Amino acid sequence: MKIVRVEAQPVSVPLKEPFRIALESIPVAENVFVKVYTDDGVIGYGEAAPFKMVTGETQQSILTAVKHLEQSILGLDPMRVALVSEMMDRRMANNNGAKAALVSAIYDLAARHCRIPLYQFLGGYRDRVKTDITVTIKDSAAMAEDARKAVAKGFSVLKIKVGISPDEDIDRVAKIREAAGPGIKIRLDANQGWNAREAIRSLRVLEEFDVELVEQPVPAGDIEGLRQVRGSVNIPVMADESVFSPADALRVIKEGAVDYINIKLVKAGGTYKALQINALAEAAGIECMVGQMIETRLGATAAAHLAAACKNITRIDLDTPYFLSEDPVVGGVTYDGEEIILGDAAGLGVSV
Ligand SMILES: [Mg+2]
Repeated sequence: MKIVRVEAQPVSVPLKEPFRIALESIPVAENVFVKVYTDDGVIGYGEAAPFKMVTGETQQSILTAVKHLEQSILGLDPMRVALVSEMMDRRMANNNGAKAALVSAIYDLAARHCRIPLYQFLGGYRDRVKTDITVTIKDSAAMAEDARKAVAKGFSVLKIKVGISPDEDIDRVAKIREAAGPGIKIRLDANQGWNAREAIRSLRVLEEFDVELVEQPVPAGDIEGLRQVRGSVNIPVMADESVFSPADALRVIKEGAVDYINIKLVKAGGTYKALQINALAEAAGIECMVGQMIETRLGATAAAHLAAACKNITRIDLDTPYFLSEDPVVGGVTYDGEEIILGDAAGLGVSV
């Protein structure tokens, strides 16, 4: 089996309402689908979702990068996933979203060739996962109402976006805890919106609302800030924007800066490196979450297969298909409230 052709197409899907976090507000998911063709007629699928404030990529830059990267993988056997991943790194630095889409398509091909679902190809630890649901930034009453609706729909884990201003954030979480009731898990994501001092002050107050963890309380480059926050509050700290690569993961582990790591395929540059991050974390006793940018069910399917495959991936944040006004994907994982069911189809089991 040989890779003979790569196709990339822009896909733009409006959100039901703008997705507002501390970094920006996003009205439309402007992503890229890739298809990798082989000489025996099988097609592998992948998705790249740019998030310019985090990864520095755009829909246009991904289309351009895929064209460059294609040259480094034509003629290779997709069963050699590690080699394909390396050849792309030798061709071009960064551009991890573009690489992630191609690597997803290669893993899809490899698992299809073996006639097993991708999560089994990768380790097969479980066959379904449970996602949280995000409550995006609005005024506190509207966020409490969104939380109440999510709980009524059966979601048991809420991910609350904070990081705007410490006082408002405390008010938001207080109202959401009241609306959600005591049995619901609440995790926070500040998306780099606080400095270490603000984070410590806010989180000490937020401890009383039974918060499971806080994601990226301080700017991505402030590893010392992460460590300080971790040492000063009784809420565990998760790195997201601070960890793209396996080397980044090693650094936060060595510095004792985090309790958890959020892995995203478009940060890591694909499944191969995501597995390395998870392995490093697992050896250090640090559990991982798998998250995503604003991806369709194609990207979510690739991420869900990774998450299901690995014992150490104990938290899942793959809710963005619920925020999109349409679903351009056929097959793939099935969403049933907070459950994501992997299914028996070979590879990712998708087409677009
Ligand atoms: Mg995050």
